Amino acid sequence: MTSPDWPEYAPIPQSALGPALNDQGYYVGRVERNLYWVTDGIYISAFMATRDGVVLFDAPPSIGNNIRRAVDEIAAAEGVPNTVTHLVYSHHHDDHSGAASLFGGDIVRIGHEETRRLLLRDNSPARPAPDITFADTYTLEVGGERVELAWHGPNHSPDNIYIHFPGHDTLMFIDVVNAGWVPIYNTNLSEDVPGYMAAPAIALSYPWNHFICGHLGRLATRDDVAVHQAYIADIEASAQEALAAVNPVPFYVAAGENFWAGVKAHLDAVTERAAAPVIAKYTGVLAAADIEVFTRTTTFAIMQSLRLDRGPSGPVHP
Ligand SMILES: [Zn+2]
Repeated sequence: MTSPDWPEYAPIPQSALGPALNDQGYYVGRVERNLYWVTDGIYISAFMATRDGVVLFDAPPSIGNNIRRAVDEIAAAEGVPNTVTHLVYSHHHDDHSGAASLFGGDIVRIGHEETRRLLLRDNSPARPAPDITFADTYTLEVGGERVELAWHGPNHSPDNIYIHFPGHDTLMFIDVVNAGWVPIYNTNLSEDVPGYMAAPAIALSYPWNHFICGHLGRLATRDDVAVHQAYIADIEASAQEALAAVNPVPFYVAAGENFWAGVKAHLDAVTERAAAPVIAKYTGVLAAADIEVFTRTTTFAIMQSLRLDRGPSGPVHP
């Protein structure tokens, strides 16, 4: 590959990859009717081109000004205005919103109330805080179209929302399922592990056939969500088995008074035992499943959540 010591990874399944990008480095496609998606192959955002203007859903900086190009291209082809009038934030993370300020100061920004709090905290000029916020649900109506925003608790981030397009057979929900790929480190860098594990079932409880998940280069299907759920369920079962099977005592005896060395040796052994069969099972099924550190750190996060959130964390001293 690129250097002599580059690891030999399994080939990426063709099904994990999206359409080819144009010369500018983006692809824009129709999801359904006047709802479109834009990708640079790694990040995905979306927009609705209505008779009254364009509603943008996320603005990843990696796509950046190509969002503008994609909007102009579609608006010209469809004969609708190319003015972006609204921006909806899926969550506060900069990698999905850092191009928000490219679309002018007078657009209406909408997000969860926690997104506003976090963006004010982070104080980044690239991501102006939303003016319209909501706690549980919000209905956005623009140009004769309707979008239902809902917050069902923390998961990947405290403020991550479900964006349902009932007239477009589509759900947008970012950074939990990566279509065709494993989550990256630590349950896709998630803050609330039980919330992360429960979120795909909430996504599937909505009616839709198109799923905009934010990564990588293609839209997702209900089958993609089901494969992701199976991967997470296998990690959970494997972590339970390993926690029960690995005897911690020898590690703590060997560690002597360095208790943290005992913790490390014990938890490394549990993590390795739990992750290995999952890595083997999903290599060739989910892209990058053989980047072992991803499944190991996700397994570690889930294993710790099983102990600390669900309990018991260990036996009660007699
Ligand atoms: Zn995120």
